Amino acid sequence: MIQQTLVIFKPSSVERGLVGRVLARFEAKGLVIAGMKMMQLSPEILREHYAHLVDLPFFPSIVASMTACPVIVMCLKGVEAIQVVRSMTGATNGRQAAPGTIRGDFAMSNQENIIHASSSPEDAEAEIKRFFKPGEIFDYTPATKAFVNAASELGN
Ligand code: ADP
Repeated sequence: MIQQTLVIFKPSSVERGLVGRVLARFEAKGLVIAGMKMMQLSPEILREHYAHLVDLPFFPSIVASMTACPVIVMCLKGVEAIQVVRSMTGATNGRQAAPGTIRGDFAMSNQENIIHASSSPEDAEAEIKRFFKPGEIFDYTPATKAFVNAASELGN
C-alpha cells in the first residue's frame, strides 16, 4: 500500500549540518518527497505533536530542543513508507539504535536524535495535516517508479 509519512529534521540535524546526508538516504531508498519546508516550531504545536509526553518531567527540555532553530518538515511517500522510514530511523535513544539506522549512525542521545518519523497510519495522517497546509503536498509520479517497485507492489 502506498503511504505518506511525516519526517521532521530536528534542530540536531539542522545545526549539525546532517540534513543532506539523512535526506540522501531517503532518496536513495526510493522514497518520494511529496512535501518539504522549513519552519520554526512553537511550544503550542509541540504540545499537540508530543501530547503523549506533555506530562513527563523532560517535556520542557524537548520544547527547548525542538525550538532551538528552524526545523525542516517533510512528507515522504512510498509503498509501506511509514514502517520503512521508522526502520531507517532506529530506536529513540541514539546510543542504543542499531548501526545502519539514522539514529544509530548519527546520534548519541535520547533527545538529540536527528529526526522524528510518524509511527502509525493514524499518526502520519494527523501529523501531515498538522505541519502542512492544503496545497503544500504534491502528487506526482517520478519516471523511475517502475524501477523502485514491481507493478504488483503498487497495486497495479
Ligand atoms: P520517537 O521519536 O522514537 O517516536 P517518542 O515518541 O517516545 O520517541 O519521543 C519523542 C521524542 O521525545 C524523542 O524522539 C526524543 O527526542 C524525546 N524523548 C523521548 N524520551 C526522552 C527521554 N527519556 N529524555 C529526553 N528526551 C526524550
